[in-house]
Amino acid sequence: MARMFKIAVFEGDGIGPEIMKPTVDILRDLANASDAYDLSFETLPAGAAHYAVTGESLPAASLEAAGKADAILLSAMGLPDVRYEDGTEISPQIDLRKTFQLFAGVRPVRIAHGQHSPMKIPNGHAIDFVLIRESTEGLFHSQGKGTVTTDKAEETMRITRDVSEKLFHFAFQLARDRKGMGQGKGRVTCVDKANVFRAFAFFRGIFDEIAKDFPDLHADHAYVDATALWMVQKPWDFDVMVTENMFGDILSDLGAGLMGGLGLAPSADIGMNHAVFQPCHGSAPDIAGLEKANPMAMILSAAMMLEWLGLRHDIRAMTTDGTRLRGAVENIMAECKTITPDFGGIATTGQVAQAVSAALAT
Ligand code: ATP
Repeated sequence: MARMFKIAVFEGDGIGPEIMKPTVDILRDLANASDAYDLSFETLPAGAAHYAVTGESLPAASLEAAGKADAILLSAMGLPDVRYEDGTEISPQIDLRKTFQLFAGVRPVRIAHGQHSPMKIPNGHAIDFVLIRESTEGLFHSQGKGTVTTDKAEETMRITRDVSEKLFHFAFQLARDRKGMGQGKGRVTCVDKANVFRAFAFFRGIFDEIAKDFPDLHADHAYVDATALWMVQKPWDFDVMVTENMFGDILSDLGAGLMGGLGLAPSADIGMNHAVFQPCHGSAPDIAGLEKANPMAMILSAAMMLEWLGLRHDIRAMTTDGTRLRGAVENIMAECKTITPDFGGIATTGQVAQAVSAALAT
């Protein structure tokens, strides 16, 4: 009998609902065609538009329902003109990260041959790596806590053993899973600045300890500045990279740039018991309602969700469907025919999503 999974859905703001609807349709079709798994979706209110009407950005009932779901799908939340009274942006996605302790921010960077990208990929090479950004501490620990006087501003970085151990364990396990699926080289690189900061020497030390539990994988280190250079000069060398929150924030946008833009950059924020899957981009209010939004980053995030659920619950058909969904997106991007304006095409959101559905049906 098919195993049922509950998916909490946050449609969000701006282009959020436009890219979420076709993604849920695609997931529903995949589940309907499978004997191994089924999906039920519950759409939950949250976000800036919801806050503007109700004064609540993430209602307690939505948070509770998300906590009970097997996985959380989120499009994008926040609008430039809707702010809390203190002037900060509405970002319930950050609240979800903190509440559910989603320490591993997973940002895959893949470029299919033929795909529109600023990178020229030499024959015989493939760009397929995953950047893991620690997402609950690091320099972001200081968010809202820094001190500023007329002469001095200070922010403090925090690295803890507990979170670092979980983070590195996750990174090595991911590299092992990727290798098992014939996707990776079995290499994990710790990206830090251990030559300057004691906190990063501590970070690296814990990485080396956890590496001993994975003798089948190759573990190495790189300084963050050199990593930025190599991500442009020889990105095909990387497999799984793991780093601190702020470094990861910056390098993941570099990764999205290598892929040709935010419209193709998926992500997942994963903890021990919960996970949120969402595109790297924001709510793009400048193009909302114009049918110009690229749904691919959202669809690729849904593919990551299927792969994660499949691996976690040992349902091979689900992992395979996730990989198939990603393959369909990559083929369409490589053909360069049905693509949205951000990648140089003229197709609408609906036409691109339709192309993905059609590719899956064949
Ligand atoms: P946030 O701070 O919430 O991440 P942001 O201000 O960095 O958001 P985005 O909302 O991601 O910005 O938009 C940045 C630019 O990228 C905008 O011009 C937007 O139209 C474009 N963009 C973002 N996502 C998409 C998409 N899926 N399809 C097409 N264009 C997009």
